[in-house]
Amino acid sequence: MDLHTDVCIVGAGPAGALLGFVLASHGISTVLIERYGSVEKEFRGEHLNSDAVQVLKKYRVFEKIKERGILAMKRVEYFYQNQRIKVMDLDEEEGNVSIHFPHGNLLQVLIEESKKYENYRILMNTTVLDLCQNKEGSYIGLTAKSGDEIITIHSHCVIGADGRYSTVRKIADIPTEIIKHGYDVLWAKIPAPTHWDPTIRLALVNHKQLALFTQTGGFLQIGWNIEEGAYFDLIKQPFEPFITELLEVFPELTNTVRSNIQSWRDFVNLRVQSCRCSTWVKDGLSILGDAAHTMSPTGAIGVSAALKDADILGEILIEACKQNDFSTFKLKEFEHRRRDEIEKLQAEQLEKEVNYV
Ligand SMILES: Cc1cc2nc3c(=O)[nH]c(=O)nc-3n(C[C@H](O)[C@H](O)[C@H](O)COP(=O)(O)OP(=O)(O)OC[C@H]3O[C@@H](n4cnc5c(N)ncnc54)[C@H](O)[C@@H]3O)c2cc1C
Repeated sequence: MDLHTDVCIVGAGPAGALLGFVLASHGISTVLIERYGSVEKEFRGEHLNSDAVQVLKKYRVFEKIKERGILAMKRVEYFYQNQRIKVMDLDEEEGNVSIHFPHGNLLQVLIEESKKYENYRILMNTTVLDLCQNKEGSYIGLTAKSGDEIITIHSHCVIGADGRYSTVRKIADIPTEIIKHGYDVLWAKIPAPTHWDPTIRLALVNHKQLALFTQTGGFLQIGWNIEEGAYFDLIKQPFEPFITELLEVFPELTNTVRSNIQSWRDFVNLRVQSCRCSTWVKDGLSILGDAAHTMSPTGAIGVSAALKDADILGEILIEACKQNDFSTFKLKEFEHRRRDEIEKLQAEQLEKEVNYV
């Protein structure tokens, strides 16, 4: 199959799905490819901050996501062992929000809204294989695989929105510095006890950070930091002393934890690393979201950063399409508008990981 489009985006995560919508709604022909057949994921970023809410409101999709169920957090509480040591109220009026949304709902709304435009096409179960360049070195499309079929997509610009292990970034040979954080995270999702407040609870338990995120639908997501690379040694140890540490800080979770977390198998291990890239753009190509700057889980800001990227890059690509200019010089404006904020956020994450509160 041979397709021709203005912009080809790889990856239907928050960055790629929103960018696809922004471009399609501005009359730009857009092809979005996604390697999986569904946008549902078990553990992914599910909190939006004020910046992300503003972006979604700007494109009039926030209300549609809200209709499918969101939950605004009332406050963030910090615990040291089992003492509450600090409370931070969250207030939309003051531009300080944390809203839980199911990841799949956000992506489904963005994709459904995009499909209303004839100039938009999404290819699921389609994985990028290689990038195409002209003789001057500009990127002019890609080849992808869908089942046994090889698809060639010719475009003015290729966008890598393909997450932390970005294939586009690798093929385009963009140097990447991996930042280690010294910890990995064990994740679990359990039903919240009745009358559990919509609150984010953070605790420091025996020098390890533990986060409880209240979720819409009556769930709690637990993120528990463990020493980097320690998972396989940890699961050889008895489980009971480990889970008891959680229950000593939050005894009100005893019933739900006992019913839903019985062994190491009930946790999923996420390897934590963030990254920095020396550039986000080349002639005819840009990366964004986790592909350009993977964030650590601290502060739950990965999705919000990806959505804000898509907003800014969308504006630049709309202009680039009008001017038919996809040069590094033109696309570099994206970095000029986003890089300082991203580097500041990454530095704040590292600081919070050391200082906790
Ligand atoms: C387990 C886990 C928990 C997290 N928890 C939080 C949290 O609580 N809060 C928060 O804000 N952030 C969290 N994050 C981070 C957050 O999910 C990311 O920052 C955010 O999703 C980045 O969006 P993105 O669109 O850039 O990339 P992604 O969401 O990673 O999307 C990339 C998309 O590209 C597709 N893709 C990848 N390779 C290819 C290919 N070769 N061809 C075609 N498609 C491809 C993928 O399937 C995926 O759909 C978490 C991440 C993980 C892994």
